[in-house]
Amino acid sequence: MTDVLVDQLRERLGDRVRTDEETRADHRRDTWVLSDLLDFRGNPGPSPKAVLFPESTEEVAHVVRACREARVPLVPFGGGSGCCGAIRAEADVLVLSTRRLRGLRDLDPVAMVATFGAGTMGIDAEETVEKEGFTIGHWPQSVELSTVGGWVATRASGQFSTLYGSIEDVVLALEVVLPDGSILRTRRTPRSAAGPDLKQLFMGSEGLLGVVTEVTFSMRPRPESRRGIASSSRISRAGSKRFGRSCGRVGGRRSSGSTTPPRPPIVSWIGAARGKPS
Ligand SMILES: Cc1cc2nc3c(=O)[nH]c(=O)nc-3n(C[C@H](O)[C@H](O)[C@H](O)COP(=O)(O)OP(=O)(O)OC[C@H]3O[C@@H](n4cnc5c(N)ncnc54)[C@H](O)[C@@H]3O)c2cc1C
Repeated sequence: MTDVLVDQLRERLGDRVRTDEETRADHRRDTWVLSDLLDFRGNPGPSPKAVLFPESTEEVAHVVRACREARVPLVPFGGGSGCCGAIRAEADVLVLSTRRLRGLRDLDPVAMVATFGAGTMGIDAEETVEKEGFTIGHWPQSVELSTVGGWVATRASGQFSTLYGSIEDVVLALEVVLPDGSILRTRRTPRSAAGPDLKQLFMGSEGLLGVVTEVTFSMRPRPESRRGIASSSRISRAGSKRFGRSCGRVGGRRSSGSTTPPRPPIVSWIGAARGKPS
């Protein structure tokens, strides 16, 4: 059944349906430590049947509808930096990478609002708005490894969240493809007192309630300067070694479906950024 579905999806997505071993293996799991352990023991879990790279919301809706009709599970995949094991593909599962749904869709400097495709890497979104004098203010340690859609799906928090709030505080609106393939666009209101705030349903939903395809942030003025401090000890060096391996694996994935080269591991980036005003 899944093979038939993969062939059907190829008719619409062409070579953006990938079944090669490397791509499937790259998308079989996130950075969960127990998955690391299984790999380390030489007992890796199965790879998904195929990885899909839709380029538009309509293509995502098509994929979701087709999977629903064929009763084939579909797992959304952003940066793959999640660390709770939410992504553990089975052999008959399809993975939907959001990485081609990337880039700035709209930036309104007066309303201080910016909209990005859900597969935009966090650091790319932040650097884009910084050029215009703003900040999103969301800075998880995985900012270089995670996507803005992944931030929503995991209800992420960051290093500056005590000031700007967590992801649920900086997201103004969402576009989501629901499990029946319909498209939900929540409104860009700063606050609503009329009924439930639907977008909150998708915060932390881990892909269960739909595929987030677009995220609209409310921005803040960019701070005039920023300073950071890095420390090093025997214990943290041991941690960094393990951490660097993990980032290298995720960083390698960054090039899947992406035209930008992988960034250096975040550990060295933190070192380089020390004292650097932004
Ligand atoms: C080194 C490191 C540091 C980290 N630091 C932090 C931190 O400071 N704060 C923090 O909160 N987390 C942190 N994390 C965890 C992780 O980076 C976050 O949870 C991040 O938000 C995941 O984003 P992602 O794009 O990598 O999502 P993925 O790992 O690809 O996916 C995570 C979950 O969301 C679902 N999903 C992904 N994209 C979508 C989408 N568009 N629509 C619907 N569902 C989707 C997936 O199916 C999965 O269930 C860290 C992880 C690492 C490896």
